[in-house]
Amino acid sequence: MTTDIDLKGLVRTIPDHPKPGIMFRDITTLLGHATGLRESVEQLIAPFHNQRVEAVAGIEARGFILGGAAADRLRCGFVPIRKKGKLPHKAIGEDYELEYGVDVIEIHEDALSPGEPVLLVDDLIATGGTAVAAVKLLRRLKAEVVGAAFVIDLPDLGGCARLAELGVECHTLISFEGD
Ligand code: AMP
Repeated sequence: MTTDIDLKGLVRTIPDHPKPGIMFRDITTLLGHATGLRESVEQLIAPFHNQRVEAVAGIEARGFILGGAAADRLRCGFVPIRKKGKLPHKAIGEDYELEYGVDVIEIHEDALSPGEPVLLVDDLIATGGTAVAAVKLLRRLKAEVVGAAFVIDLPDLGGCARLAELGVECHTLISFEGD
């Protein structure tokens, strides 16, 4: 089912959050809208329906909401990629840079099997630092990254171009360009 719902209009922009100069794209308003949520998940997975996807990896925290729903619709499992120190079992980590800081993300070392086709999901791609670190984690587990899906792209910051350099195709639904 595809509706002509205005997904971009459901995203709320908070200027100067969490620090001056950042236009924070708040998806809680989109997630809270029944049709907006359903349509976002539907459109996120649309290109991957006919591909072999055996797991969805979602990035903490908003990637858990969208990734969990995407995994359910693709009838596969969900793998969390979490901030440092949150996973209970043995994990591997990668440093990454945010638009507004530096951090580490981790994945359980036994979360995926070699060759397992996995789709990466997050709410938004900005510089791509988080997504690049996530792809590196998935590849360290020898999983096959079939693609990366984000509700929002900030193309001025070049995230999808960075993923393309790694050979990962980016699928995005909404673009905020030049603002
Ligand atoms: P990046 O690593 O620069 O691609 O940043 C992507 C991650 O940071 C995502 O998990 C987003 O949730 C968050 N993020 C970065 N910039 C913004 C922004 N302008 N508005 C909302 N979330 C953002």
